[in-house]
Amino acid sequence: PVLEHAMKNIVILGSTGSIGTNTLDIVDRFPQEFRVVGLTAGSNDEKLEAQIRKFRPAFAALANEAAAARLRDRCADLPVKILAGNEGVAEVAQSQEAELVISAIVGGAGLLPTLAAIRAGKQIALANKEPMVMAGALMQAEAKKHHVRIFPIDSEHSAIFQSLEGHRREDVKRIILTASGGPLWGFSREQLQDVSPERALQHPNWKMGSKITIDSATLMNKGLEVIEARWLFDIPETQIEVLVHRESIIHSLVEYTDRSVIAQLGLPDMRTPISYAMRYPERMPLDLPSLDLTAISTLTFFKPDHDRFPCLQLGYEALRIGGTMPATMNAANEVAVEAFLQSGIRFLDIPDIIRSTMEAHAPRPIDTLDDALDADRQARDKAESLVHALTR
Ligand code: NDP
Ligand code: MG
Repeated sequence: PVLEHAMKNIVILGSTGSIGTNTLDIVDRFPQEFRVVGLTAGSNDEKLEAQIRKFRPAFAALANEAAAARLRDRCADLPVKILAGNEGVAEVAQSQEAELVISAIVGGAGLLPTLAAIRAGKQIALANKEPMVMAGALMQAEAKKHHVRIFPIDSEHSAIFQSLEGHRREDVKRIILTASGGPLWGFSREQLQDVSPERALQHPNWKMGSKITIDSATLMNKGLEVIEARWLFDIPETQIEVLVHRESIIHSLVEYTDRSVIAQLGLPDMRTPISYAMRYPERMPLDLPSLDLTAISTLTFFKPDHDRFPCLQLGYEALRIGGTMPATMNAANEVAVEAFLQSGIRFLDIPDIIRSTMEAHAPRPIDTLDDALDADRQARDKAESLVHALTR
């Protein structure tokens, strides 16, 4: 079916990643719907070159300067302007022709370019949850000021967004975020203590980047998502609950005051929420398998296990404390996850490092971007010293 509207010009921040490549898959399926005007990544010049050759953006950027120089050589025969560094990435996010920016960098590195896109008045399709955790109030204030809408890509938040459509906000009783429980649900404390990065990276339902997969294993992903929901939907944490649902079929639910519950269901495939964020309020005719509930037959639900997976509670705690605490928690988590993947700290060291970093932090209000970035830097230093003490 042909949809009747103008071509939409998009920029993808993090185009070489899991969300980025899923987004380009949608563009590939609907070439008359989207024009790619900018692509950015961190350091993967080879993959970005292939994407540039295929989608022919006017602008591209790599955060890593040496990789950007290599990319310039690789693309010397193409009419693409290649920028370098974080500033280069932020510049592509603001390109004149862009209407919609897909924010899909992993981690706090996405804060600067995403905020730059908001300030340039670009609509945002947001996968990159860490900036919302670090500076959600600031991002929403800027979005309001620049008449920008932020459409969620994160599957739970897309589900809530869809379940809120056509309903009165004052009738919402609570929102219920579902959690798969991740790759290590059901593991004992002893098993968790010795779990390898390879095992923790085996997610049962979703193929994602390594950072979010480890977040899913610790349940920190859900802690981050509670904070993301707080700011995306302007709802207090007392009205946000988490339900473990192993099959990832119900993507989240909203309960209303009359006890009616509206949920969004579907097979786990990020192209559904990505396409909804890209073409809202229209739905794109995606050629994917339909949900067959008789084939699935059973859906299971559990309470989160805070004892074995303390990171979810840390998320609630950071949100309650507010100010710079969520940014501190997020930075400590990024450092701890990286250390688990690269330098041999143990799985259960991750929550310990985050908690210790939070305990050492005296929270301040966040009024400016620098307030968030300062807290981020300080927490990284603190968390890195804790990692160092564990690995030396
Ligand atoms: P990936 O690790 O697969 O991809 C990350 C992307 O960000 C890559 O393009 C990478 O480039 C780029 N990047 C990394 N560091 C930097 C940097 N310093 N500056 C600029 N670009 C950088 O991550 P995912 O796609 O899995 O996740 C992206 C975001 O979306 C995360 O915040 C995640 O939590 C969120 N999300 C992801 C979901 C998923 O299904 N994957 C689901 C819901 C949310 P390079 O390849 O060069 O390193
Ligand atoms: Mg999610």
